[in-house]
Amino acid sequence: MSDKPRTFPLPLSSVTDKGPKKQTVFSPVATPQTATRNAAHNAVYNTAPPKLRHAQPTLVPARPHAERTAPPAPPRPHALVSDAVRRAMVARVAKQGVHDPVVLAALDTVPRHMFMEEGLAAQAYIDASLPIGHQQTISQPYMVARMIEVMRNGANLARVLEIGTGCGYQAAVLACIAQEVYSIERIRPLHELAKSNLRPLRVANLRLHYGDGMLGLPQAAPFDGIILAAAGLQVPQALLEQLAIGGRLVAPIGERTQHLELVTRTGKADWTRQTLEHCHFVPLRSGVV
Ligand code: SAH
Repeated sequence: MSDKPRTFPLPLSSVTDKGPKKQTVFSPVATPQTATRNAAHNAVYNTAPPKLRHAQPTLVPARPHAERTAPPAPPRPHALVSDAVRRAMVARVAKQGVHDPVVLAALDTVPRHMFMEEGLAAQAYIDASLPIGHQQTISQPYMVARMIEVMRNGANLARVLEIGTGCGYQAAVLACIAQEVYSIERIRPLHELAKSNLRPLRVANLRLHYGDGMLGLPQAAPFDGIILAAAGLQVPQALLEQLAIGGRLVAPIGERTQHLELVTRTGKADWTRQTLEHCHFVPLRSGVV
């Protein structure tokens, strides 16, 4: 696999315009992770997008050549969800310490506003987690990027598992950095929401599953990387067993006080653990609803 990020088959311009948005809300909504977000003060609005230091993904239009050479479309009316605003978000994430160019390019590729309800879409590129219904949240962009960077560790990953699909945003980012991605969600309406959010992006290398992610996905194991998007008191044993030898798992651990934990499988019965930064995620729960 090359070190280049994947690109979705559709040109962004064909999927970013969902029609008129409702009146936008500018103040971030307080949810888990907003407490720990690193750049709340970095308002996106009225700032020129800083230059991205890292490689930009090439967005390959799937349209026929004749259509591509047509005169450029008029500027899109929704400036708050534009490519430039997303680029500014990526530049902020880079400034916060995420340096992996593959991860930054993936973040620049995925239209985050398409994963949230229209009333919140204008907040899509601030560095905060936001509600997606059922008391769950879309993860903060910095945290998404950081976890993927830690899991990737500069390597090209063949098979990755995410626990907690939510609205599908992180799964779409993962699909840009790994050959095959599996994501599990325990709340059926959110599983359905992720499916409908991802449909227009036509992400061919992503499989969504409805089930209890604490049990993992033995039929697709072993995984080179596993990310948990919800916090438990410990990493479920099934997930440790489904990690390939040499594979890396990143999970938020804790209840009121949480930290990111990196688990590396070093042998058939050996795992090493490393405690990383403070974080705040929704709880990992067993069973399905
Ligand atoms: N990955 C999402 C974050 C979603 S929030 C994003 O891109 O923003 C975390 C999600 O984990 C919630 O949707 C919650 O329902 C789910 N979750 C919690 N426990 C789970 C479990 N045992 N199995 C699968 N999903 C779980």
